[in-house]
Amino acid sequence: MRRRTDGDAYVPGHGDPSFAVDHYDLDLTVNLAANALSGVATLTCRALADLASFELDLYRLRVGKVVIDGRPPAKHAQRRHKVVLRPRATIPAGAAFTVKIPYSGSPRPMPGKDGEAGWEELEDGLIVASQPHGAPSWFPCNDRPDDKATYAFTVTAPQGYTVVANGRPGPTRRRGSTRVWTYAEDAPMASYLATLQIGRYVALPGESVGVALTTWCPPARKPAVAEAFADQPAMVESFSRLFGPYPFASYAAVVTDDELEIPLEAQSLSIFGSNLAYRAWSAQRLIAHELAHQWFGNSVTLRHWRDIWLHEGFACYAEWLWSEASGGPTADAHARQHHARLSGLPQDLLLADPGPDDMFDDRVYKRGALTLHALRLRVGDDAFFDLLRAWTSRFRHSTVTTDDFVELTGELTGLDGAELFSPWLDELPLPALP
Ligand SMILES: [Zn+2]
Repeated sequence: MRRRTDGDAYVPGHGDPSFAVDHYDLDLTVNLAANALSGVATLTCRALADLASFELDLYRLRVGKVVIDGRPPAKHAQRRHKVVLRPRATIPAGAAFTVKIPYSGSPRPMPGKDGEAGWEELEDGLIVASQPHGAPSWFPCNDRPDDKATYAFTVTAPQGYTVVANGRPGPTRRRGSTRVWTYAEDAPMASYLATLQIGRYVALPGESVGVALTTWCPPARKPAVAEAFADQPAMVESFSRLFGPYPFASYAAVVTDDELEIPLEAQSLSIFGSNLAYRAWSAQRLIAHELAHQWFGNSVTLRHWRDIWLHEGFACYAEWLWSEASGGPTADAHARQHHARLSGLPQDLLLADPGPDDMFDDRVYKRGALTLHALRLRVGDDAFFDLLRAWTSRFRHSTVTTDDFVELTGELTGLDGAELFSPWLDELPLPALP
């Protein structure tokens, strides 16, 4: 069941396979009133081939004087959403090098095949929601999910605002009418999971199984948000037991004052609109869903976007598992209800390759979750959860394909993984549940 492994048709034109970035140092200044961003990105890179030239992704922002290993390049040009760099001498395969890029402009969400993504202004602040192609809207990057890097953020923003980025918060300091915030993401992270959240937020601190939990929200929304997110520590505890240890040092939820169309995961934090600050299942399932992406999507990340079911199917199944764990309907009840509903919908979507237009179609989520439930029914609870924990442990902080999951299933259960999964992944009709 080998699948294509050529370029990514879901985000055409993004990423350069000829080099890897190991670390991004982003020193940014944000002027919220003018929606202006200026910064210096310093990228620590490795050549994967001999590099006569290479490309970074950057959307609409203007690049200043670039320096490669301390020297200006022989040539640099900006074409559409690419920064093309030609070093003075070819960088040999395997060599390390640094690129320092000053840049500035007025960031906008970046259009793509699936819609717009990336930097987005709020009524009083901003969010970055980059999945799958929005990272170039705010920093120059090698925008492919299989090129994970560590990150350091230094962000200068107006006083009175809170800045939240990925990873561990560092010291903040006052600088005139602004405040400088620092964050470090020490776990490898795909560019689409890097984020910046700025708003008038206060912190609701918490803790679960040794993981620091912070919920950020506007002060006036504190009571509603505290109530809505009250089960988050229990979710972290439950998922750590089912999926293996929480994969990052901390977890934050940012609740914006604005209503948002959908919540979204980033690495070690998730973003919710104020319209999800309530107790009912329709909000709780999404709070569980975004948290589950820390295991499935952020630590274990797809190598190609066609494998999106490895993120969304697993996170959707985690919703049903949370329902079961918290005394609601069982995962089996959710599965049978959604199976009945899916049976009545067009069966024209291939789970293993849904296409860029349908990558976030609800059928990918539900059929993906049903695929896992069918596997659970077939192998039993012990083998099923052992497999999920082996998946998150073996591929922790790395990238995967569907074949990796099929092979691991075969290896751990002794069953023919391809025979088990093919009807769900590679064929159109919806299989019956066991
Ligand atoms: Zn999701």
